[in-house]
Amino acid sequence: MTSTTSSITQLLKTHFGYDSFKPNQEAIINDVLSGKDTLAIMPTGGGKSLCYQLPALAKEGTALVISPLIALMKDQVDALRANGITAAYYNSSQPEEEQQHVLQQLTKGELSLFYVAPESLPNLRHTISTITLNLIAVDEAHCISAWGHDFRPAYTKLGSLKQEFPQIPIIALTATADKATQDDISKQLNISHAKKHLASFDRQNLFLDVRPGQSRIKQILKFLGPRGAQSGIIYCLSRKSTEKLAQKLKQAGYKAKAYHAGLSPEDRANIQEDFVNDTTPIIVATIAFGMGIDKSNVRWVIHYNMPKNIEGYYQEIGRAGRDGLKAHTLLFYSYADVIQLRRFTEGTATEEFQLAKLERMQHYAEALSCRRKALLNYFGEHLTKDCGYCDVCQNPPKYVDGTVIAQKVCSAVARVKEQEGVTMIVDVLRGAKNAQVFDKGYQHIKTYGAINNVSWNDLQQYIIQLINLGVLEVYFHENGRLVLTPLAKAILFEGQNIQLAHTEDVKALKDAKTTK
Ligand code: ADP
Ligand code: ZN
Repeated sequence: MTSTTSSITQLLKTHFGYDSFKPNQEAIINDVLSGKDTLAIMPTGGGKSLCYQLPALAKEGTALVISPLIALMKDQVDALRANGITAAYYNSSQPEEEQQHVLQQLTKGELSLFYVAPESLPNLRHTISTITLNLIAVDEAHCISAWGHDFRPAYTKLGSLKQEFPQIPIIALTATADKATQDDISKQLNISHAKKHLASFDRQNLFLDVRPGQSRIKQILKFLGPRGAQSGIIYCLSRKSTEKLAQKLKQAGYKAKAYHAGLSPEDRANIQEDFVNDTTPIIVATIAFGMGIDKSNVRWVIHYNMPKNIEGYYQEIGRAGRDGLKAHTLLFYSYADVIQLRRFTEGTATEEFQLAKLERMQHYAEALSCRRKALLNYFGEHLTKDCGYCDVCQNPPKYVDGTVIAQKVCSAVARVKEQEGVTMIVDVLRGAKNAQVFDKGYQHIKTYGAINNVSWNDLQQYIIQLINLGVLEVYFHENGRLVLTPLAKAILFEGQNIQLAHTEDVKALKDAKTTK
């Protein structure tokens, strides 16, 4: 069968019952069908599965789908079978007869899709090499990266698939991958040349709000007002604070319940159910709450404590406003939380990445420019306009022309060959006379001392603004080195201007916020 538009639209209709594609699906499917390796980044609910399920049906043979969760495999296979598609899964938890039966179906060429856990794959390599494969799909592909949040060692073995099956297109899919993890996925799967499809992560109906974390309970009570009757979630770091806060809210007359891993499974199921059917509108929870809950009318999400990284934050605010109607998200930012989160990372194997991600979260919370821009930049998506629907857009600091500062910073980044992080760039621009600078001979580059009339902290602040604005990108997995984006090149070479919040105003703004 050819991959013409009409034939894939036909398959969409006959096998899945849909009339049209969701954003990016068609382009991804066409790439896969034309044999290209593909990286598909799409938010949850974006319709990733169809991107390999449909090509699997359009071509002769079987699609190999690598999936990390047994529950997920089972759901998918059940749904496919309900649509009359022959699919099966294989994993270590199945009885042996069942495994044998599935392998028989596989070798007889009876399966359109074959789902397998990454751990089971090594044992099946021989069998798989004897069948007609039409594509390989790696679902939840961020599990391959130690920089992602769900690292699965068995995923790293998938790198050899490309060598073993060089002619078979690989499609890697994920909903959560910052720019650095996206690059790492392609590299590790040996599909660096893969065509990347980045669906928008922008949830325009979510208001993004960040406030200083003083007198949080008072602020929450004020925020709730009539909102307290609508569904909302408050995320806290500790079990104790969920209990305490839920208690306070109840005293104030709200229907609220605490939810955390210390409760019995029955209690948790009951609380979840009461939330879903609107009996208990407010849940005060640790991060464990909300996974797999499909509730469309959550009208607000509060982060009582700062999340440890932007992925987590994005997922949690994403539980609000699924119905597309407006919803408010509010993050309380306090330095005490940063210190505590830092402590959690101490001594862990990925301490360095976690700290770098935490720092990006902090940059977001301290952003002086459109929050949505800062948020989406993190995922490698660049908004050209400010959103008008975040706290900064609605209450902006005073901006001044920051073009010259930006040019000097970008020039310094270029002259150290994009090998240095924020601290070194500040030192170089301020003409610091320390060993780190001299050891690398940076006193000889042209931008050394080019900004010697701005304090260390102010210059650092400007650079953070440039990161949030998407002028610079942080490669946090490579010692946080700064890299120029296309926007930086426009500022350096194409006369693009840029506005930055003036540091004096920044200080005034911060003081005003903390005394509120
Ligand atoms: P993801 O894995 O990206 O979270 P899914 O593949 O589970 O998303 O799809 C989310 C939902 O969207 C599913 O219910 C799926 O059936 C539905 N869906 C997928 N593609 C389409 C489409 N083209 N039109 C309508 N619904 C779709
Ligand atoms: Zn904005």
